[in-house]
Amino acid sequence: MRLSWKSPLEIKKRLCPVCGAELKPIASLGAATTPQYFYCKRCGYKGVVYIELHNGPNGTDKESS
Ligand SMILES: [Zn+2]
Repeated sequence: MRLSWKSPLEIKKRLCPVCGAELKPIASLGAATTPQYFYCKRCGYKGVVYIELHNGPNGTDKESS
């Protein structure tokens, strides 16, 4: 079992599950309850799935979400 607690001080990046580029969050149009969407400008991916990149003590650690 993995601990899923995340420190607010932790630097996190959201990466494209297709090409690994950094994703841009898409602002939801007034609907604050909608899950956040992301857009990849490299490959054109759009969606809610992303790879979360943590800057932990061991450097970087990729895990899919
Ligand atoms: Zn991409």
